Amino acid sequence: MAVLDPELMRIVEMRVLNKKVCRKCGALNPPTATRCRRCRSRNLRPKHKVAMRR
Ligand SMILES: [Zn+2]
Repeated sequence: MAVLDPELMRIVEMRVLNKKVCRKCGALNPPTATRCRRCRSRNLRPKHKVAMRR
């Protein structure tokens, strides 16, 4: 795979990580969500930099 522009990678990363994940069902929700759209749980967490693992 080609190495992408680091600045572009940063933007892509921000977009991907800018979500909330439900701890209960694992659904992705918008960053503005206070409740899960699938199970209505309020047990949401922001998606952190797990994608940085190699
Ligand atoms: Zn849920």
